[in-house]
Amino acid sequence: MKKSFILLLFASLCIFNVDAQKKIPHTYRPFGRQATERKEIILPQVNGYNIYKADFHIHTSYSDGRVNPQGRVLEAWYDGLDIIAITDHYEGVSGIKRAAKVAAPQNGGTPFEYKSAKELGTAPADFNAIHKEAASAAKQMGVPMLVIKGCEMAREPKEFGHFNCLFLKDINKVYDPDLFVALKNVKKQGGIVIHNHPSYRRGTTDKSESHKKLYEQGLIDGVEVANGENFYPLMVRRCIEEQLTMFGNTDEHVLTSYRFGTHDCYRTMTLVFAKKLNEKSVKEALLEDRTLVYVCGYLAGEQQLLSDFLNAAVTCKMVKENAKKGQRTYMLTNMSSITYRLRRGRTVYELEPFKSLQVVIGKNKKTGEYDEPKFRVDNMWHVDFKNPTITLELDK
Ligand SMILES: [Zn+2]
Ligand SMILES: [Zn+2]
Repeated sequence: MKKSFILLLFASLCIFNVDAQKKIPHTYRPFGRQATERKEIILPQVNGYNIYKADFHIHTSYSDGRVNPQGRVLEAWYDGLDIIAITDHYEGVSGIKRAAKVAAPQNGGTPFEYKSAKELGTAPADFNAIHKEAASAAKQMGVPMLVIKGCEMAREPKEFGHFNCLFLKDINKVYDPDLFVALKNVKKQGGIVIHNHPSYRRGTTDKSESHKKLYEQGLIDGVEVANGENFYPLMVRRCIEEQLTMFGNTDEHVLTSYRFGTHDCYRTMTLVFAKKLNEKSVKEALLEDRTLVYVCGYLAGEQQLLSDFLNAAVTCKMVKENAKKGQRTYMLTNMSSITYRLRRGRTVYELEPFKSLQVVIGKNKKTGEYDEPKFRVDNMWHVDFKNPTITLELDK
């Protein structure tokens, strides 16, 4: 009797174990299939305009970049952008013969990484095809992204430098060995010209004699105030004085995550203040200088626009008044994806995205009146490398 009971117990334990094993799946995928997500960069509406996030200077494996157009579209979408321009070097890969297509996978590279045309000693025959590939990739993948047709032109000597040409109709037709003629060809197509990375190989952002002529002839519409991780402080004043558009672009050649992924910031962007996400509206915004530049957690631009931007992004309410102590407490709420470093004297309030903080402001010792909620914004730049001082408007 005792023996049979032990046997029965053993048998039931075995069945229990088999049952338990049956319930464990042979494969489990902790992340599911769609692991890569878009970073949503939430920015306010300012003066009736939406703010679109753009990068107008990107290279692909069709010139000296390492990522193909399809990869650029996806990467930009994951990075939270709305607008991109693929601007491969039109004649930068000089002295090498043009071929039909370049797409040799690079060993050990990530899926969208390729050897560049420059490394392979060749370049595409049709530059419009690069844009077409990017635009149709955006369409096929259902990625809501405006892709602007463009290219980068470079000229020697180094006093000339590099220029991005955007909103082109036919890239193949703009080239001329004379830069002035080439840029006039861009203008004939209704294009916009950006003076890129103005200190590149020169060690200065001063205007050279040739730049003066280009500017005087109205061939330059905007300047890169930031390129990659570089900021050019003196370019802010030039843009304001000469009514040029400020741009912040990555000039990316590899994956953006290599450069910006390890920093606690977004990739360098041009913030475009436009009514709609279409070519007409974006071009109009650029011609009317309605941009700010985002670079490594900083915002650069014209002082009034910075102030309008901050006031749209941050709400400010007076929540308490202590008449005895002569103090007012304000609640600041950041409804955008950018952190603002707000300084009063030696105190810096770091207002992070979608958070609120309280600031106590006393009476002015000289006037005896309450001070306004006014801050020097340490991560904003206007002319001459200066941080703007901005008064936050009270919520009604
Ligand atoms: Zn360049
Ligand atoms: Zn470039």
